Amino acid sequence: MKPRKVNMDLRLAAVPERGRLRLHFSGIVQGVGFRPFLYRAAEKFKLKGFVKNTSAGVTLEIEGNRLPGFVNYITRNAPPLSLIETLRLEAVPERNSRKFLILESETNGRNNVMVSPDIALCANCQKEMADPSDRRHGYPFTNCTDCGPRLTIITGLPYDRPLTTMKGFTMCPDCAREYRLPLDRRYHAQPISCPQCGPKLSLQIKGKASEGDSLDGAIKILKADKVLAVKGIGGYHLACRAASAAAMARLRRLKNRERKPFALMATMAMIKKNCRVSQAEKNMLLSPAAPIVLLETLPGNRLVSRVAPGQNRIGFMLPYSPLHKLLIEIMGEPLVMTSANLADEPLIFRDDSRMLPRLADAVLAHDRPIGTFCDDSVLQAFNKDTYFIRRSRGFVPLPIGLPFTSSRTVLALGGMLKTTFTLLQGDRALVSPHIGDTGTTSALAAEKEAINHFLDLFALRPEVVVIDPHPAYPNRLLAADFPGAEIVEVQHHRAHIASLLAERSEKGKVLGIALDGSGYGDDGTIWGGEFFSGDLRGLERAGHLLPVFLPGGDAAAREPWRMALSLLRAIPGAGPKAERLAKKFGRKGEQVLECIVERRGGVMTTSCGRLFDGVAALLGLGDLNQFEGELPMRLQAEAEKAQPQKQSYPYAIEQKGAMPVLNMLLALEALLDDKKSRAEKAYRFHLTLANGLLDMAIHCSGVSGIQTVALSGGVFQNLLLLKLSRELLQKNGFQVLHHTLVPANDGGIALGQAALAATKYCKEF
Ligand SMILES: [Zn+2]
Ligand SMILES: [Zn+2]
Repeated sequence: MKPRKVNMDLRLAAVPERGRLRLHFSGIVQGVGFRPFLYRAAEKFKLKGFVKNTSAGVTLEIEGNRLPGFVNYITRNAPPLSLIETLRLEAVPERNSRKFLILESETNGRNNVMVSPDIALCANCQKEMADPSDRRHGYPFTNCTDCGPRLTIITGLPYDRPLTTMKGFTMCPDCAREYRLPLDRRYHAQPISCPQCGPKLSLQIKGKASEGDSLDGAIKILKADKVLAVKGIGGYHLACRAASAAAMARLRRLKNRERKPFALMATMAMIKKNCRVSQAEKNMLLSPAAPIVLLETLPGNRLVSRVAPGQNRIGFMLPYSPLHKLLIEIMGEPLVMTSANLADEPLIFRDDSRMLPRLADAVLAHDRPIGTFCDDSVLQAFNKDTYFIRRSRGFVPLPIGLPFTSSRTVLALGGMLKTTFTLLQGDRALVSPHIGDTGTTSALAAEKEAINHFLDLFALRPEVVVIDPHPAYPNRLLAADFPGAEIVEVQHHRAHIASLLAERSEKGKVLGIALDGSGYGDDGTIWGGEFFSGDLRGLERAGHLLPVFLPGGDAAAREPWRMALSLLRAIPGAGPKAERLAKKFGRKGEQVLECIVERRGGVMTTSCGRLFDGVAALLGLGDLNQFEGELPMRLQAEAEKAQPQKQSYPYAIEQKGAMPVLNMLLALEALLDDKKSRAEKAYRFHLTLANGLLDMAIHCSGVSGIQTVALSGGVFQNLLLLKLSRELLQKNGFQVLHHTLVPANDGGIALGQAALAATKYCKEF
């Protein structure tokens, strides 16, 4: 589960049995308990020597016997938060050291140590919190070298207390002693604090500071079925009782979200009462990143209809900060913990937000500032692998290793929805926290601010800036902040495929299948069902879904009935059905139908997301997408109710010029006449599309000889489609790549943009 890129230049056979060794570690090796760990390991093996932090990482010298055993031990048992990126090792002359010492840090030179992500409360800190005799009993801000905030409190490097948001808190003598004691579990834990010297909770009700105990007051708010804003690690949450219909209704009203799924926070026992939890999913929940994991609900689950109407999965996370743990333990039931923001606005993380009192009945805050925002990560398990919906807290800013080295520093600005940006330098890429929908001015400002923060933190200056070619994407404007940088455009769906190749370090040629809602195509139409062949140096369009008219452009994404109408109109002989559907929407329906017939007020699209929209609407699963992908998610949930079907509907591959085109209209025609249950029809649609993708792959492979297929794009968040496609492709001899590090959705495209642009600036590929 833990992303661990270890690049160790060590051949254990070459380590002498006895003598003196010097070891250099780079990666995340400072502020994570690395030196005390080496100290204890040296004691265990009775070795002498020293360890010290340097500007490049950690240097260790050891002298004695059983050296291969020691090296083996330390590489296998490194502290949970550390990430050894490289380990270099050399034999040096013996010095007859008598002791093992932790030496003062070398602080000369620029610190190029990596920054750790924020890490969930560890087991030792949990034990202390629960112990009435411990001085941190019930303390909502406890942490140690193995856990606590990192990225979100760091204001600069090197990682030292004055360059964190803890700089305003002076350590008490007890904390200072722990901080200085090499064998203490808080040795050099920069956010160290205790009830005497650390941050304090505060409660505001209707904008006024509340008297009395803040935690008690907050619990009263929750128990009264009201909405509580809670300051967390990377931002504020809105919390309420998931089991209370009244509380949920109030939250949905305040957030202006009638049906959007909300994430829940609960103990493992509570989660298991509601959802099926596989071993892989349990490991993900318990991992130091503590992400939200989407879990299938158990039959008869009562929460799902309120938490995620029309869906069959709930996103659960464990309490990951000490404050969360107190709230869940005292309440004794699952709480909604949804990001505090209004609709598509960015996550609120500043205490002076004027929006916060409007979104919640009370605000539970504290006086440790959040340095930079970082939303919760969301993922699913696919084949026991992590399959990200959103990669953010707990993972950012872990770098993603690339299969090439760029001579230029690249900044890629991402797309418009689920936006992230990527900084690429040398052979690694840093993908930013989730920013959100940069169609709003505040989100655009958030992206700009986060870019500047990361550029400062890592002392980088972009020489190449990558943007999406869509002329209406507002974040294109951010490129103007970097005069002198070369501006490069990378097409949306090529970026999807490239993001997968980059995270998998795939240098070979692939057949890329990118299925999503929409992206600006080379020809100015809206793409979204695309086949490419090529590699990270360039991807050529090799096929696509049959273009269909998209009535009203973006309006069709919000109103899937428009797409249903357009699909019906395109099916020969389904005209009367189209007219009946149009009538349902009155005057507006008839106008839209007119536009479709006359091909005005819209564009052509190959979008697969819109195809799912249309099919879901035709099957009566709804008319509107209240949030991106709502109806397609319902279509998947419906299909998952059915027994696996064997038979596909018909479809066709047609040749348009040199390009094969997958025509799914035949399938829709058959679906409309199918007498099976809705769930079975939904399943068959998935199966038909998977078969269509396979036949397109066989067709393209016949031309190019490529045998590897890369599956990306937001539609592949649909695990049923991913599973069926992968099985069919593998059965037919294809090697299949899927995402495990960045999302298949638009949260991944910044990485692909950066990678495709950067291959122009590397000598060897
Ligand atoms: Zn801890
Ligand atoms: Zn203290």
